[in-house]
Amino acid sequence: MVGSGAQAVSDGDSGLRVGLGFDAHRFVSARPLVLGGVRIRERDGLQGHSDADVLVHAIMDALLGAAGLEDIGHFFPDTDPALAGAGSVGLLATVADLIRQKGWRPVNVDAVVICEEPRVAPYRQAMRERLAAAMGVEIERVGLRGTTTEGMGFTGRGEGIAAQAVALVERVPAPATLLQTLAGAD
Ligand SMILES: [Zn+2]
Repeated sequence: MVGSGAQAVSDGDSGLRVGLGFDAHRFVSARPLVLGGVRIRERDGLQGHSDADVLVHAIMDALLGAAGLEDIGHFFPDTDPALAGAGSVGLLATVADLIRQKGWRPVNVDAVVICEEPRVAPYRQAMRERLAAAMGVEIERVGLRGTTTEGMGFTGRGEGIAAQAVALVERVPAPATLLQTLAGAD
């Protein structure tokens, strides 16, 4: 790829990295359901230490994996009392900041929510808006859809929700290069 990031990478290195994330959480009756940062209902949510936003967790792991960093359990351990009930979209913003500090920025994210219900389609745009805002990217860079497993497996039996995500990141110019570019553009 030719672009502003090309100066920051060595010969033969595209400056691009892809990452994969997967997560699954079990349904519990006494919690709200939050998916992609959107509160869908007040009961029959997902079990977890944080708000259990399975979609956001898969995206965070995809971004961290693409940047070659440790997984979300490393950065946000479920033994941390400060994270009890934490809004995962806020953690996604932290992850986006983290990978930028390491010299990467998100190019695009694509994700699938796997469950029999709820249907994702009615919430899809709202979820994309929340996710894009958290990552600091345009909404066009966030792909999202829902699917079922046609009654098969734990998602098919309605035991929980799973999510998969891929994320592409690209090297950003070193800070000095960026400053020179800005000075030159004056
Ligand atoms: Zn999770």
